Amino acid sequence: MSIPFITDLPDAHGRFGPYGGQFVPETLMPALAELTEAYHIAQNDPDFWNEFHRLMRDFVGRPTPITHARRLSEHLGGAQIYLKREDLAHSGAHKINNALGQALLVQRMGKQRIVAETGAGQHGVATATAAALLGIQCVVYMGTVDMARQRPNVFRMQLLGAEVRGVDSGSKTLKDAINEAIRDWVTHVADTHYLLGSALGPHPYPAMVRDFQRVIGVEARQQMLERVGRLPDTIVACVGGGSNAIGIFHPFLADEDVRLLGVEAGGRGIASGEHAARFADPKIARIGVLHGTKSYVMQDADGQIALTHSISAGLDYASVGPEHAYLRDIGRTAYTYCTDEQALAGFKALCAYEGILPALESAHAVGHVLELAPTLPKEHILLLNLSGRGDKDLDTVMGAI
Ligand SMILES: *Cc1c(COP(=O)(O)O)cnc(C)c1O
Repeated sequence: MSIPFITDLPDAHGRFGPYGGQFVPETLMPALAELTEAYHIAQNDPDFWNEFHRLMRDFVGRPTPITHARRLSEHLGGAQIYLKREDLAHSGAHKINNALGQALLVQRMGKQRIVAETGAGQHGVATATAAALLGIQCVVYMGTVDMARQRPNVFRMQLLGAEVRGVDSGSKTLKDAINEAIRDWVTHVADTHYLLGSALGPHPYPAMVRDFQRVIGVEARQQMLERVGRLPDTIVACVGGGSNAIGIFHPFLADEDVRLLGVEAGGRGIASGEHAARFADPKIARIGVLHGTKSYVMQDADGQIALTHSISAGLDYASVGPEHAYLRDIGRTAYTYCTDEQALAGFKALCAYEGILPALESAHAVGHVLELAPTLPKEHILLLNLSGRGDKDLDTVMGAI
């Protein structure tokens, strides 16, 4: 039997079961109410989606292809592995789908300015790209430690016309940049939109970001039916905040025979405590609130946010999107993790067998598939969401192998 109700979430309060919601200071509530209303109208307007899909086609290069990883499948001797090629989307990852969707909404709302935060710079680059295309002013907050580590992405954003503002407070990294971006938003809310980069944060962000990333799963579903004549048996995606995973999972939620598997960052192993596998470590990750939403949060005994570690910056976050937490509770999705070391093995395998350099984030999904595929029969069809390309990670990989 199908389960249509899952796809109707979140409820009117932005909740996915016990997760999600809007845990923000009073001063942010009007901005969230305005955004929720604007998105609700856009969501029901075919003109909005026509414009979105026109940009997806003409600017992003969608639909992205599906590639049968023939040599890797043969080498592993089990399931047939297919890749959904988000690495071929313009600017190199799935993040552009969401950045452009929100930028279009900004135009409709009559705002002229976008603020965003970025850690490694990937979301900042996608946001600056969308802002340049649509002629919107763009300010990206970035911790000064991250700026020093990611010089090329700082320069990229500047070339794209964005102003990159260094954040010198706290640990001078992502969470401090998020705080600054929110402060800017509250102060300039009349003309400014906060462009959040994953399926996280207060309602309506988790639902809105998911809806823009659903394009991945909608395409993949149709492409698999055309190419192999049936749906995949298993879909695997890496999970940072959870946007690429929910994007490919969501259009398959009602297909109960399709197994949906998320891969978190196992870092140096669960026992080391140095990881970002929120679902794998009940000692560290408990239900809590971070950046406006209720979900699994890595925290110490006093409820302070725990330090996380991953070789890939995009998976290195203490919480996970609320919809994933809910889908896991009801058993529709499952999660595992892949260590830094396994991800590097995945990175190398995809380069050597398929001629594709994956992003280190995506390499976590590949790393898990290296172990999973050989345990499955040859008729088993496994679809892996290749969320991004790996050129950005060459320095990290060179330092690690
Ligand atoms: C940012 C990023 C991720 C992680 O973010 P999600 O919201 O979990 O998708 C994964 N892959 C790539 C290539 C990224 O840039």
